[in-house]
Amino acid sequence: MSPLKPLKIARCDNVAAMPNEGDPGACEFCGHGRVIRRTEEVAFYQWTGKGYVFCRAAIPMNICNRCGAKNWEPEAEKLIQKAVRREHDKLP
Ligand SMILES: [Zn+2]
Repeated sequence: MSPLKPLKIARCDNVAAMPNEGDPGACEFCGHGRVIRRTEEVAFYQWTGKGYVFCRAAIPMNICNRCGAKNWEPEAEKLIQKAVRREHDKLP
């Protein structure tokens, strides 16, 4: 009998500290699904010093095909910040 494993919460900002061995395609949340890397377009409002800006960015995400858990990597965070800055710079 094996006890249930506690749920692990994946944190994007902690990727470097997480062991990254074994099957990289296995879902950390449900442990059964396959994680598929997919680029998704996200649209969002972001508050800046010039007010709210509307941004769009294509973000590479890791999505589980079983439980639907999504997470993105630090590089995606950078893409979002870049999109925000681009829109921010357009404002007078
Ligand atoms: Zn899953």
